[in-house]
Amino acid sequence: MSINQIVELLKNHGLKITPQRVEILRFLQNNRIHPTAQQIYEHVLSKVGSVSFTTVYNTLHTLEEMGQIKKISINDTTTIYDIDTSDHGHFVCTICGNVYDITYKVMVNVPGKTQRTELIVYGICSQCNDYLQHKI
Ligand SMILES: [Zn+2]
Ligand SMILES: [Zn+2]
Repeated sequence: MSINQIVELLKNHGLKITPQRVEILRFLQNNRIHPTAQQIYEHVLSKVGSVSFTTVYNTLHTLEEMGQIKKISINDTTTIYDIDTSDHGHFVCTICGNVYDITYKVMVNVPGKTQRTELIVYGICSQCNDYLQHKI
């Protein structure tokens, strides 16, 4: 979905379209780094000059409720946001903290209907692995 389409959706949900909100969407769309709310907040602040963390958080919450973004807890303290809502898993590097998209195929038998599947694989990314190898 394009930014314009999401902006239309936000309008339909009764949200005022502010430069801050558009900047949140633009950041998510253009930077597929799976940012935290804090990273998004810092970016919007640097672009627009004034924004409250609450505004960023509430906008993310609304987008999530609308199904336009996914919110994923990668550990007890870190929650990331993904504008790619298609079926995919994540690989989290436990050293640098980078989050990578991964594809997977899995068959599960559930006693009912699946509503949400979240696959998170933890490990060491190749960049950190190379670094560690050269250090030793
Ligand atoms: Zn890494
Ligand atoms: Zn992702």
